[in-house]
Amino acid sequence: MHLDQQTIAVVMIVFFSSTLVIAAGLVFALRAIEAGRLWAFGYVVGSGAGLALAVSAAGGAPHLGMAGAGAFVVGWLLIYRGVRVYYGLRSHAGPLAAAGVAVLGLTATSSGLPDGARVLQAAVCGILALISLATIGTLVRTGRGRRSIGAPLVLVSTLVQLATQLVGASQVGADHHDFTLFFAGPAGSVWALAPLIAGLLGLFGFTVMAMEQIIANNESGARVDALTGLLNRGALDMSALGLVARWQRDGQPLSCLVIDIDHFKQVNDTCGHHAGDAVLREVAQALDNSRRASDVAGRYGGEEFCILCPHTDEHQATALANRILRKVRAIALPGQECFASVSIGVAQLRGAAGSKELLWRTLFADADRALYRAKQQGRDRYVVASSTLDGAPAPSLVRVTSQIMTPAA
Ligand code: GH3
Ligand code: MG
Ligand code: MG
Repeated sequence: MHLDQQTIAVVMIVFFSSTLVIAAGLVFALRAIEAGRLWAFGYVVGSGAGLALAVSAAGGAPHLGMAGAGAFVVGWLLIYRGVRVYYGLRSHAGPLAAAGVAVLGLTATSSGLPDGARVLQAAVCGILALISLATIGTLVRTGRGRRSIGAPLVLVSTLVQLATQLVGASQVGADHHDFTLFFAGPAGSVWALAPLIAGLLGLFGFTVMAMEQIIANNESGARVDALTGLLNRGALDMSALGLVARWQRDGQPLSCLVIDIDHFKQVNDTCGHHAGDAVLREVAQALDNSRRASDVAGRYGGEEFCILCPHTDEHQATALANRILRKVRAIALPGQECFASVSIGVAQLRGAAGSKELLWRTLFADADRALYRAKQQGRDRYVVASSTLDGAPAPSLVRVTSQIMTPAA
């Protein structure tokens, strides 16, 4: 099928008007994440530029087309920046903005030159090809191993765009090729419209990627305690059931620490809840810094925390308890010239029969009982659950070195 230039221009006017409206809506819909905002805004700029180019091709307004060419590149620079932000790379905002300004400057100067259209077409096609290559490189290198439906769509779309840009660059100077349709495929054939379909695929792919990140953010937000950044109670319970199931399979020891801040009510009462919140955050950080990577730490509720230690028996878990006691004793309480302390109950999962839920409840109850003993025995210490059982030897694992509200030296 042969498509003449007027038909291609009209199709492009319809296409870019549609993507302009869609992208404007996406600026609001994807505003929750920076990459989504950049992609949507990039598509707004690119679609507006494409519209200017198509109108220029239909009506023969070369200056409008040249301005459109510069803006088209700016739109793709924004989209590329969005890809970098999405994958947590440095966004290169400064160099990319400088590149955009340089292209707009080139547009302005080349429109006064006799051979300006050719120069601009060569430059624009070359720069767009570089942006496409960089986008493909980022998607392949950084996106590898991540599950995504949107990223492969963007990859296919960018590969088609790259092919078009290389064809566009090779056609610089050809009499039959109109400059304003530089981003179309080989002139005259139905392939001239392939980049438009790729553009639509890219818009869809970027939207899906943004939605994937918004969903992932919401999911992790639902698992994390907003004040301390540790897992919340629900996520801790889920992780605990998984670890108990692993314990049932491989029989490796599983231990649990239940940790409660001593006399925390006094901190709130004397310094206020904001100061109390700050202490909670500091204690949570001390726990997080004390645990191994394979341990799971969460805020069980109020000023009570829990750490689950796979492949760890209760004796090994006391080493973690000691590290925590030491770190927390270094936390100065606001306005009181004294230091925080915690009490810790340590327990190891024992027994065999029972559901995962029952085993987890039993493990937590054992550690909680040991914690209660630690409070009874004066706080700022740990107690191991097995040492509290009838007939167990006297709890030699109890250590006291300081008390909360101890004046600083
Ligand atoms: P003990 O040594 O026996 O554990 O004494 P305690 O004062 O730490 O224990 P108690 O259960 O009497 O008080 C716990 C306090 O923790 C009461 C509650 O207001 C406070 N609390 C619970 N959650 C938060 C929170 O998110 N922020 C703040 N600032 N305080 C909290
Ligand atoms: Mg307490
Ligand atoms: Mg408590």
